Amino acid sequence: MRIYCDMDGVLVDWVSGMLKLANNILQKPAEEVRSKKLRKYAQRIKEGLGRDYIKADEFKVKQPPVKPFTYASIMRDPFFWIELNELDGNIAKLWNPLREMAAEHDIEVEILSSPIESDPKCVPQKVEWCKIHLGIGPEKVKVVSNKSVYAKDADGSKNMLIDDTEKKLNEWSEGGGIPIRFKDNPGEVLERVKELLEERTLVGRMKDLSDV
Ligand SMILES: [Mg+2]
Repeated sequence: MRIYCDMDGVLVDWVSGMLKLANNILQKPAEEVRSKKLRKYAQRIKEGLGRDYIKADEFKVKQPPVKPFTYASIMRDPFFWIELNELDGNIAKLWNPLREMAAEHDIEVEILSSPIESDPKCVPQKVEWCKIHLGIGPEKVKVVSNKSVYAKDADGSKNMLIDDTEKKLNEWSEGGGIPIRFKDNPGEVLERVKELLEERTLVGRMKDLSDV
């Protein structure tokens, strides 16, 4: 058994970083936006929304082209991923206690995050972010599109995934893993992990007894 933890929306404030970048471009005079593609997207967004900024829940909108604009903006920012801030103090509230709890049970905690595949700097900068903020090496950071391949260990044991995205959690569950939903609730998540770890210890003890 292993515990995997997501980055964006759990430990990393992707939304604020994305909004700051996108809205900064939308509010610039058009002649100051050097990329022709971004200029065109920005104009269509401003016309479509009737304002010069986007909101957090609009980044996936395809028309006006908020999503392609956001992704193109990220691609053009050389330090986007590495400069993202920690979300809500969740390293102290979730990550550190999670690692302590797992260590008591001899279990590994690793990062499992999804990249923007078209952005070549995404994976290396996510790995670097983890080194700087979490103090862990690249061997403990997995950045893949299909998280569910890690739902079970080679020995068949179920792994946990702490994530904020419903779709990822459903895929994890279908892959045979234990999904744990993060939604601004580090205390609840820790409680759930504790329960699962204690359950595992208990099952292990009962098995030992029956083997005698
Ligand atoms: Mg996430």
